[in-house]
Amino acid sequence: MNKKTADKKFRQIHCGRCGTCCTEPVVPVTDSDVRRICDATGKKASDFVRFYSDDEMSFDPDAGLWITFKTGKMAMGLKKRAEACMFLSSTICCKIYEHRPMTCRTFPYMVDFDEHGNPEKVHLNKIVDCKSSRKGLSHLDPEVSNIIIEQKQDDAYYGKVSKWNLSGKKGGAKEFLTFLGFD
Ligand code: SF4
Ligand code: SF4
Repeated sequence: MNKKTADKKFRQIHCGRCGTCCTEPVVPVTDSDVRRICDATGKKASDFVRFYSDDEMSFDPDAGLWITFKTGKMAMGLKKRAEACMFLSSTICCKIYEHRPMTCRTFPYMVDFDEHGNPEKVHLNKIVDCKSSRKGLSHLDPEVSNIIIEQKQDDAYYGKVSKWNLSGKKGGAKEFLTFLGFD
């Protein structure tokens, strides 16, 4: 960890375990998330992945996660069951906690980095009504490390989505999962 990261402290939150972030939004996943969950659970990608249209999933229309299918633009996310993520238990615990997607690990933190790649500012993601409370100041080293990993895995996945989109392939979910090396 470099000196700037070690010197700077940010607002830390204490999760209220309300489960809203596992219930309301669609959770986007990358191929790295899907591979990790397949390896840990023995499930096939199609057992827990679903593709969502922009009517079902509010996300920046220019984001790299939009895949061109013959039926239109879709994004890869976790399946839902009874309006919640299929991996959320009845006691509001994640059934795949050790293997959960990167976006679940970093929520609700968002970090701005300076030109040297050091964390400069931390915001909280307002996509849901998060019931977290303030816990004091921290270097947030694990959270910042996860955000850096998440950004790298997002970039790698978006590169694959872009390759699919530019190739003019006209398939759907099944063909895209095969293109990624799943199922
Ligand atoms: S994978 Fe786990 S942490 Fe992520 S939304 Fe589902 S239940 Fe919540
Ligand atoms: S919405 Fe906020 S308080 Fe509720 S489970 Fe998610 S991070 Fe925790």
